Amino acid sequence: MKRIVVVSNRVGLPAPNSESSGGLVTGVHAAMRGRGGLWFGWSGKVTPSPSDAPEIVQAAGIDYATIDLDQAAYNEYYLGFANGTLWPLCHFRLGLFEYERTQAEAYEAANERFARALMPLLRPDDLVWVHDYHLIPLACALRRLGCQQRIGFFLHIPLPPPRALAILPRHKELFSSLLDYDLVGLQTVEDADALRAFCRQNLGHLVMPDGTLLGPQRRTATGVFPIGIDPQAQQRIAVKSAKLSTTRRLLDSLGGRKLILGVDRLDYSKGLSYRFRAFGRLLGAHPEWRSRVTYLQIAAPSRIEIARYREARLELERQAGRINGKYAEFDWVPIRYINRGFTPKTLAGFYRVAQVGLVTPLRDGMNLVAKEYVASQNAADPGVLVLSPFAGAAAELDSAVIANPFDIDALAEALHTALTMPVEARRERWAALHAAVEHGNAERWQQSFIAALEGVSALPRAATASR
Ligand code: ADP
Repeated sequence: MKRIVVVSNRVGLPAPNSESSGGLVTGVHAAMRGRGGLWFGWSGKVTPSPSDAPEIVQAAGIDYATIDLDQAAYNEYYLGFANGTLWPLCHFRLGLFEYERTQAEAYEAANERFARALMPLLRPDDLVWVHDYHLIPLACALRRLGCQQRIGFFLHIPLPPPRALAILPRHKELFSSLLDYDLVGLQTVEDADALRAFCRQNLGHLVMPDGTLLGPQRRTATGVFPIGIDPQAQQRIAVKSAKLSTTRRLLDSLGGRKLILGVDRLDYSKGLSYRFRAFGRLLGAHPEWRSRVTYLQIAAPSRIEIARYREARLELERQAGRINGKYAEFDWVPIRYINRGFTPKTLAGFYRVAQVGLVTPLRDGMNLVAKEYVASQNAADPGVLVLSPFAGAAAELDSAVIANPFDIDALAEALHTALTMPVEARRERWAALHAAVEHGNAERWQQSFIAALEGVSALPRAATASR
């Protein structure tokens, strides 16, 4: 069995006391279990003059190799090009898109440095699996250093249509570097179609009926691999967490009121301000819900060095204040807005007791919170998922109450529908959602990607055609 080498911007060192973690960590650990592996990436530390020689630690049969970034790389590569340019571009937020040539150069340079640090650690028959928008040109940089191993790439975030991608200066150079991979995986059919269309229209490459891209140097397979969670572990932890003192305290504090729950990173892509407005609209249009439902929004701060994120936070504080000021009673606050993260255990208990899971990003690669909410429910009395059609998860979770987050009235009505849904309808919808979450789990995600990457090895490297 070939060794798996995972490369991601941040390395998911095993977290103590955490039974459940995000899809990448769950999937990668499952992929490496039994066959060993190496996980390479940024340590998360910013240090002056960091070494190119990775620091290597071992845990549970996996080698973790990390390098630090210096302040300039952190600012220009990570905050700048990755999160100030590519993130808004790929999340269809062209109005927030910013570009600085020096940042684009720092992104290239960071990828070259990652490649230089990784190259000496590779063995001839490794399978290399690169993750996400921080590392698009990594295969190109590795190939320049002579890397012959099979390399796959998985994009966790969405991909907009070619005309949107084309606003990025030097977009052809950046996205044609995807053709140095043997396999490119995406979350949804829509994302895969966008990539194939871009390669055809903007790069002039031939795309085979099976989605294979014929580039100048090699064939690159493309495929759809929706990321998932470990639903059984999530259910187990939710059942246990329902008995935690945190969950009991939450229930006591609600005093029998219904609970709408949102759990997100504080990111403008998550549509939080639209949700706040929709909840306010619900209280306006359906006064019967006043004092009868509480909306708990947990929004962990994220990328606070970026002005757009600080602005989003201020905007939410204003809105929560406005709605609470208008509707609160001396014994009821409509929106509880919390600006910090909670452990997966605590969250699982909250998911289980919330009558409504509100997951309405304006655009999202997948959204694992939606899947975690579904997997945490009590089958006999499940809550209702209100989901945006613009989350990648909507492709699988179409039995949720789907609501366009830009339509505040529709979102308010979706909340009303969810809050009043009879138990039979809730069970029916949940059964379908649960089956989808079980099917598209983290294990299947990693297995199907690795199998596809091993499969493409048989394809000839040389180009057969281009136009
Ligand atoms: P993203 O990858 O954009 O952060 P996801 O919905 O896929 O969005 O969430 C990834 C993981 O982060 C999930 O496992 C989720 O439980 C966790 N998470 C999201 N928001 C919070 C929060 N406020 N506190 C703790 N964990 C969170």
